[in-house]
Amino acid sequence: MGTNQGISGRTGLVCVLGHPVGHSLSPRIHNAAFRSQGLDLVYMAFDVAPSALPAAIHGLLALGFRGANLTIPHKEAALDLVDVVDGTAARIGAVNTLVNDQGRLVGYNTDASGFSRALRSLCPEGARGLTCYVAGAGGAARAVVAALADDGAREIRVCNRTPERAVALCSEIGWGVSRCVAVPAEGAAEAAQSSDLIVNATSVGLDPSVKESAVPVDILHSHHIVIDLVYGAGPTMLVREAKARGANAVDGKEMLVMQAAESYALWTGLQPSLEVMRRNIG
Ligand code: NAP
Repeated sequence: MGTNQGISGRTGLVCVLGHPVGHSLSPRIHNAAFRSQGLDLVYMAFDVAPSALPAAIHGLLALGFRGANLTIPHKEAALDLVDVVDGTAARIGAVNTLVNDQGRLVGYNTDASGFSRALRSLCPEGARGLTCYVAGAGGAARAVVAALADDGAREIRVCNRTPERAVALCSEIGWGVSRCVAVPAEGAAEAAQSSDLIVNATSVGLDPSVKESAVPVDILHSHHIVIDLVYGAGPTMLVREAKARGANAVDGKEMLVMQAAESYALWTGLQPSLEVMRRNIG
């Protein structure tokens, strides 16, 4: 077996398709894990505009890629571009992992279980019985809502810049025993303040030059548990403000590692070392 330090004619390919994608830490995480297990695989990142997504996905099969990740903004569009959609991905309505199964592309979602595992690093019991506030209604938010509902959250409050998307997300069946309600922008501060768990599942904060948060930060309190799905070189504004007010807060790096480990297992059949993955996100 070779390593991805010595690419050969037999080296297998995996990648992430996103737009933008330059900030992605997935290549570092996966390449380190491939190396640590002596796998002859290499992981690349490709910036693919939405209009080029169908060609890029079909190209994965043409080029014999072992699999891929999809990130912002492709996770929902990819649902219609794969041959088979796994049950969890279909329920969430978003695909973040593709597996080339002998020429058929199968779409999975590892964000929900990745979020769930990351949540347990803050709350061992998960979201059972908690009131949860989720900012965002895109692919990541859908995975978060599914994970919270699977845990048995008491209530899930969804607030999104485009309110119709939050209403649509909440009105879908399949959120189990949890009450899922769309919150209008004017009710956001009150809804977040009276929640136990606050999650930012929007892309606000991804660009470090933008000094804003999709979650109203003035209401943050020491009783809040805060998870920002966004991550960057330093703490995001939301995590910084939450910690300054005594809240228990993490950015998206732990979820990134957890969802990556699940995707890795789908491509290789192996469990990667979480320690190697964590060490390589800097
Ligand atoms: P997406 O499907 O494109 O959804 C983006 C969401 O952000 C939508 O709800 C959108 O609202 C909202 N949004 C974008 N710009 C906004 C702004 N200026 N103000 C308020 N809301 C805004 O993307 P996604 O796949 O859900 O990903 C969302 C974020 O989660 C990304 O930053 C991604 O990197 C992160 N993520 C992290 C992990 C991890 O492992 N840590 C995993 C998955 C995703 P509209 O509906 O109004 O457009």
